[in-house]
Parts: sequence; C-alpha cells; structure tokens
Amino acid sequence: MRATVMFGAGDVHIETVPDARLIEPTDALVVVTRAAICGSDLWPYKRMEYSETGRPMGHEAIGIVEAVGADVRSVRVGNLVVMPFAYSDGTCVFCREGLHTSCIHGGFFGTVDIPGAQAEAVRVPQADGTLVVLPVGADDALMPSLLTLSDVMGTGHHAAVAAKVGPGKTAAVVGDGAVGLCGVIAARRLGAEQIIILGRHPDRIALAREFGATDIVSERGEEGVERVRELTGGLGVHAVLECVGLEQSMRTALGIARPGGAVGRVGVPQDETLPASQPAFYNNVTVGGGPAPCRAYIEELLPDVLEGLIEPGRVFDRVVRLDEVPDGYRAMNEREAIKVLIKF
Ligand SMILES: [Zn+2]
Repeated sequence: MRATVMFGAGDVHIETVPDARLIEPTDALVVVTRAAICGSDLWPYKRMEYSETGRPMGHEAIGIVEAVGADVRSVRVGNLVVMPFAYSDGTCVFCREGLHTSCIHGGFFGTVDIPGAQAEAVRVPQADGTLVVLPVGADDALMPSLLTLSDVMGTGHHAAVAAKVGPGKTAAVVGDGAVGLCGVIAARRLGAEQIIILGRHPDRIALAREFGATDIVSERGEEGVERVRELTGGLGVHAVLECVGLEQSMRTALGIARPGGAVGRVGVPQDETLPASQPAFYNNVTVGGGPAPCRAYIEELLPDVLEGLIEPGRVFDRVVRLDEVPDGYRAMNEREAIKVLIKF
C-alpha cells in the first residue's frame, strides 16, 4: 500500500510500504477515506534528524472497517469510523476516568510501532475502545467537521476544559492555527462571554470571528499582554487556551491570565521548562492540559457536529490527494494553508 513517510526535516515522501494488517485479536483494519495533516506534524517537519527507515506519519482519519480481529465486538466490517489520534482500550482505570491518552494499553498513531493514518489503510489497536462508528455515509458533506473529532476539535475543547471556561467567563486563545480556531468554537460552546484571539493572519482571524471571537489581538509579547489587559479592564482573562507550545506563547498565556485564572495548554511544548513561574505562582494561576483525550470528547461533540451546531471542518482550507501530501506539508509549514485534508 502507499503511505506517507517522513525521513527528516522537510523530507516527506509517499512510499510503497507493507500492507497494514491485523496483528492482535483486538485490532481492526481500516481503509482510510479521509485523513489530515496536523500542526504537530510540522514539528518533526521543521527539525527531525534524518532517518533511513523514516517515520510513518498521520494520526487523524475516517475510514471503512475492512477486517476485525476475533475479539472485536463493537465495530463491524463495513462500518464508517472515526479514530482519535491515540488508541485506548476504553476499560482501564484512566479510560474510565475519561483520560484515554493515558490508557494503560494505549498509544499513539504515527510511530514506528503503530504506523500512521496518512496512508491507504491503518491498523487500529484496541478497536473496541478506540473507534467510533459514524451514522452517515462515507461522502457525507459533514466529513471535514467529523474528521476534526480525530484531533483538532477535541484538542481545542480540551484546552477550554483545562482552562476552566464556563458561562459568563472571559477567555483568550493563544494561537490562530486549526487548534486555536477550534478552541474559539469550544470556548463559545462552553459559554465564554468574551473571547479574545491572539493571532495575526487575516484569513485565520476572519474565521475566528465567525467562530465567535469577540476581540482580536495582533500584537505579540509584552505588547500583546498589555493589549489583553486593556480589553479586560486591567484584570486579565479567566481562561487561557494555549494552542502553540513555544516558550513565548506560554509566557504570553501566563501573562494574560487573571489572578485565580487557568491556562489550558494543548500546544506540544517545545521546551523542557515552563516560563513565568513566579507570576504564575503569585497570581494563583492553574496550569493544566496535555494530550487531549479526544476519544472521550467524540461522544460529547459528535451530536453538535451532526446537528450543524458547530462547524470545525471549516478549518480545512485545502484538499489534496495522497500523492500531493508532501506539498500539503509545505503549504502548512509556509502558512499558505491552515489545515490540509487528504481525500482518498
Ligand atoms: Zn485504557
């Protein structure tokens, strides 16, 4: 089969690889119908060291179940399914607590052990706990929004939950990528009264406004912090959704949180340490977040997508075929595209 393999920074190819197949009795084999390139795929795209074997990429997909192992009960051959970016058994202590990304029998797609979903087919471990059957046809117009349940919509929602967004609260979203934009949707959905997005790309800001952002801050660093303070009567915001992962964005996030506020971070941190430890301490700011348990959130968010109450699929502004995936990486890396959908 054909699959996306990254060999080093900027070095992505479509390769012929061994066919995905069932290995464990709890596996499902899914033929991919839609996949996506993630902002987090851009970190290795920027800095991965060359590897001869490469890394099979992709962790967001919808597809049709082609085969299931002997122990799989809840999905059947022919089902259309969405997969979250992590697999999980759905039964261990952490899954029962709704933290599927810490599943004792879980793991992540797009590694050497569990190849990625930017491929014609993907092996899904722990199929019963991982996959969610979609009650629509494989070419339904809702496909882009349903695909965001694999990662970006669930991740934006997780940032909002970790930042303790609630009715009447003020929120700020640091980052105008696909996750930040989904964070705006999530903050509005959870009742935030004022939603400030920190970003500077006109197309992304326009979409953020349509998703519910009430204020835009395009300044960066200290100036951006000052601007948010001005917009909040000098207080700062209750809830900060940190959707980038850089030292500067985290420093900004902690700088705009009001005393007693919370920062929900979902940008994969690119540094060992957290900045602004002292202001965070003296302001009693909670820092939470991590990899989003998207599997838990699919059940909460899917009805809203099916009813058209939220349209996170609008973050996809480019559609490519598998052969064009390397150019999709380039386009996202150069910020020519917000997020790329791969149609098979
Ligand atoms: Zn588990």
